[in-house]
Amino acid sequence: MILIKTAEEIELMRESALVVSKTLGMLASEIKPGADPLKLDKMAEEFIREQGAVPGFLGMYDFPNTLNWSPNAQVVHGIPNNELLKEGDIVSVDCGALKNGFYGDHAYTFEVGEVPEKTKKLLRVTKASLYIGIREFKLGNRVGDVAHAIQTYCESHGYGVVRELVGHGLGRDLHEDPQMPNYGKRGRGKKFVNGMVVAIEPMINMGTRSIKQLKDGWTILTADGLPSAHFEHNVALVNGKPELLSTFQYIYDALGIRSEEEAEFTRHEFH
Ligand code: MG
Ligand code: MG
Repeated sequence: MILIKTAEEIELMRESALVVSKTLGMLASEIKPGADPLKLDKMAEEFIREQGAVPGFLGMYDFPNTLNWSPNAQVVHGIPNNELLKEGDIVSVDCGALKNGFYGDHAYTFEVGEVPEKTKKLLRVTKASLYIGIREFKLGNRVGDVAHAIQTYCESHGYGVVRELVGHGLGRDLHEDPQMPNYGKRGRGKKFVNGMVVAIEPMINMGTRSIKQLKDGWTILTADGLPSAHFEHNVALVNGKPELLSTFQYIYDALGIRSEEEAEFTRHEFH
């Protein structure tokens, strides 16, 4: 069942999403060669608690950490360990926060030092596909419209679109209806209505879409060992249009990146 949110609930969800946005922004300046994932995980936990929230993933289904930390060929659900970041790595960081009874849940794939152009392109295309998907999250459209838009864009670049893991509705539960796959057919699936809040999160592989899971029961990685990227935003459907509750602006501020990509989906000014 899809749980529709009131305007007040959407404002609370924006707060939860922004806790995560700020946490990813804080991490952005720390993610560099030699950085210790376990230290960053602890920093993230403290930073979330300082904002009057609790880590959304810690203890959820017995997950042991605050961050999903998925370097290189890991797609999602990686567990932070003591393997230090190296020049040329990428790392997908997915983070959740619970505040006022609502979850925020979003993710960004970071470059560590200088990354090969081929990998940069994977990140660029995956992030672009996120916004292409968000643009389809509008009144009258259906789940399949978002899914199809993401799939066709990524596949046109020869990339593998992961199918086993999907985006989702978001609210008082981390995973609510509907499921939001990154592949599918136009015009199919649940219809979007005002007050829906979803996490849209393409998980895109440089090579095959096939994945495997490590024996830890969590870590998902590409079957061919090639890199994978993951970008996730929390989006509300307001007045028929998609409105971002999360933002990458804190990351961009930390990294000195200029971007207009969120402008069409943003209600608030962040500066
Ligand atoms: Mg997530
Ligand atoms: Mg999610």
